[in-house]
Amino acid sequence: IEQTAYQNDSLAMLGKLSASIAHEIRNPLTAIRGFIQLLHPHLQQLGKQEYGKIILAEIDRANDIIHEFLTSSKPSVPQVGMIPVSALLKEVVLLTESEALMKGCQINLHPFQEGDMMISGDVKQMKQVVLNMIRNAMEAVADRVDGLMGKIEVGAHKEGSEVRMFISDNGKGMDIRTLDRLFNPFFTTKENGTGLGLSVSDRIIKNHGGCISVSSRVNEGTHFVISLPLIH
Ligand code: ADP
Ligand code: MG
Repeated sequence: IEQTAYQNDSLAMLGKLSASIAHEIRNPLTAIRGFIQLLHPHLQQLGKQEYGKIILAEIDRANDIIHEFLTSSKPSVPQVGMIPVSALLKEVVLLTESEALMKGCQINLHPFQEGDMMISGDVKQMKQVVLNMIRNAMEAVADRVDGLMGKIEVGAHKEGSEVRMFISDNGKGMDIRTLDRLFNPFFTTKENGTGLGLSVSDRIIKNHGGCISVSSRVNEGTHFVISLPLIH
């Protein structure tokens, strides 16, 4: 018992330490970003503006990794509360709708047939999961080769003692190799991806006693389902 306690203690220490290191890395990155932006006109004069773009994109990627790392290394004691599923989905759709429209993509929030459903959990973490999935869907839709109108369907229904939330898209889909690895930390097929979105989401949902399932077809689209215990 003593050894377990000791291990947990050093794990918690390590978590705190990495979180503060991550914070410390962010500050210089912000400064670098600002100065590169100030240098942009000079780079342009030199005909080297693409260097600036690459630097900014890479700084943003480092920031994304730190951001997702920070959210995943936060204390694993979630702020548990009752979450109405309809409000959760509505809020995340509202948050992403304008970005989607700008990219020529529609998000369709399905009406709730059985009235509202409740789940129990950390609302911030739940929002992060749905946000990750809608972001992925927007990116998949943008990558479609035939330029078809992007459509994302979001909704939820009751299935026995579970709530099933779904996020579907008619994006580029995934082949079997991608499907095999999409929950692995740092697995990404995107040039600017972190590969952390789904691994973090998977952890969050498992911590809440649920699971994520996915089906997909290349060039047709992808269907994600988040199953969680229903609170009566
Ligand atoms: P990232 O988005 O940074 O690449 P994620 O963990 O969110 O990392 O996703 C991992 C990979 O899973 C993506 O790079 C992509 O290949 C695949 N993926 C996830 N969602 C979708 C989707 N809706 N459509 C197609 N591919 C997807
Ligand atoms: Mg992602």
